[in-house]
Parts: sequence; structure tokens; C-alpha cells
Amino acid sequence: MNPVAVTLGLTGLAALHVGPAATWLPVVRRALPRLAGIGATDHVALTFDDGPDPRSTPLFLDELERIGCRATFFVLGELLERHPDLGRRIVAGGHEMAVHGWRHHNALLTRPGRAAAEIGAAADLVTAVTGVRPTWYRPPYGVLSAETLIAARGSRLRPVLWTAWGRDWTESATPASVLAALAPGLRGGATLLLHDSDHTSAPGAWRSALGALPEIVGLCRSARLSIGPLRDHRVDRPLIRQFGEPAGSGRT
Ligand SMILES: [Zn+2]
Repeated sequence: MNPVAVTLGLTGLAALHVGPAATWLPVVRRALPRLAGIGATDHVALTFDDGPDPRSTPLFLDELERIGCRATFFVLGELLERHPDLGRRIVAGGHEMAVHGWRHHNALLTRPGRAAAEIGAAADLVTAVTGVRPTWYRPPYGVLSAETLIAARGSRLRPVLWTAWGRDWTESATPASVLAALAPGLRGGATLLLHDSDHTSAPGAWRSALGALPEIVGLCRSARLSIGPLRDHRVDRPLIRQFGEPAGSGRT
């Protein structure tokens, strides 16, 4: 994924049209910390987008099992429909499954009604495959529209973005580059975005995220931070001052 723009079409709020992610994420943090996924100060949320993919997701599940860590997987309906056994394996491993959409579309570039229908279908599919109703929705490219927000609410999904990413989707990404990209945002309360699939990334780019996982988890634990899924992130707490960072100063 390569987010280039975000519209927060929130009813009752002025729409925020903002450009590069480095600019808009601090804006989101300041105005809407719950949407950014800022959680408890002693916890880091680990999230993966764009799966499930039988070529890569099982390797992430194996590695997470090896290091004793759980995560939230934002899946695409079209992939989960093709690989329901893999979806069940994600949940059987103690991980949380969440909705990324049906196809990886930018909600602002699809015809009216389509994104909403796809969110509902994906939520229903996650429920049917896993037996667990999903809690979270993260839109492709981080693009939220009024339609997708209303659809998410109708499916009882909470929109959540991220506070730090590994830039693991590029052809040149390596475990070291992923760590370097995440490092400034690796702190209590963070929601980390990685990808367990190259569905929308450079072929094989997921290897960079996979290779970085042990050190990401190790860094959190050595800082006495627990790391796990969004369900343990306590996003509901009053959090706005937790990062202690002036808006606009971060690069995540
Ligand atoms: Zn994505």
C-alpha cells in the first residue's frame, strides 16, 4: 500500500484533506487519537494488512508462534473467501481478525454504494469463517469516506488507522529498513502497520516485515512494553496526551 491522501469524512466535522502521510498522521493523532489507534502506554498493537495469502501468511503465523506474540490481521474478503482454512488458522493461533475491505480499493474512487456493500460482505465473511464477529475496520490506503464510516458503523466495526509503519511494501525494503522506519514510532500506545502479503506491494516485499518481526517484538519487550492485538490495546482510554509529542514533529 502507498497511501497518498486521506479524507476523514466524519459527519459533523470538517473534512480533512491532507497529503503525505507524514503530515496527516500527526493531525489524526491530535484530533482523533482513537482513530489513529493510540492505546495504553504499556502496550503496542501489532497489525498486518492485505492477507491472507497462502504464500506468506503461514510464515508470519509460524514466526509469531515462535516468539510468542499475537497480532491483528486486517484481511481482504476476496482473499479470505479463497483461503478460509488459512483464516481459521489465524484465529486458532490466538490472533484477531479484522476487516480491510473486500477488494483493495480506494473508497473515494469507487462508485457510490460499492465500498459500503463490500465492508458489510467482508465483515459477514469473517464472522462466517471464524465464528467471531470482527471489531475493527481499516480502509485500504487509509482512505475513509462518509460512506465507509457509515458502513463500518452499520457493521459494528470501529475504524482504526495506525501510528507507525514499516514502509515494508517497497521493492527495496529490508528488515533493517523496516526497523528504521518503525523506530521513531515504537513506543507505548503505538499501533504498528505491517503487511503479511504482497497483494498490493512489490513481489516478496513481505519478507522484510517477516525478517524484522523478532527485533520489533524484542525491542518492545526490552522496553517493558507488551505487544499484541488491538483487542488488548485499550484504545478507549483518554489518550490524547499519552504520546507526549507535539503534533507535526513526528515522521510516522
Ligand atoms: Zn492494504
